[in-house]
Amino acid sequence: MEKLLRSKKIRITDFRISILNIFNKQSTALSIEEIETELGQFDRITLYRTLKLFKEKGILHEIAIAGSNVRLALCEQNCEDLHHHHHNHIHFHCVLCSEVYCLDVETYPEIGLAGFEVQQVEIQATGICKSCR
Ligand SMILES: [Zn+2]
Ligand SMILES: [Zn+2]
Ligand SMILES: [Zn+2]
Repeated sequence: MEKLLRSKKIRITDFRISILNIFNKQSTALSIEEIETELGQFDRITLYRTLKLFKEKGILHEIAIAGSNVRLALCEQNCEDLHHHHHNHIHFHCVLCSEVYCLDVETYPEIGLAGFEVQQVEIQATGICKSCR
């Protein structure tokens, strides 16, 4: 985790490490509320600033789920910043437990749109997750 911060040229603080640790031990994406519960005591402004910084630096990505809370999950190693994600994974939203998973796939479709520069393609799947089946 410290290595990750160093590689992104972000100053290491205990709080930043603890946020990363929360994400690291989860197999699903987290809502802000879940992060707050995990932290227990925290300063809300510091939390929001940290999440913003991590999103800007390509450490975390946001997943918007229709009709549900926004979730956050760790990025892939080669994500550069907010606008340059390099994800080869699909977001799976379970209709039963409402958890969101980042799932790797072997081939991720490349989409060419004439005259447009595609920076990222997001694929969302809905269904019933492994632990709910
Ligand atoms: Zn990313
Ligand atoms: Zn489920
Ligand atoms: Zn993801």
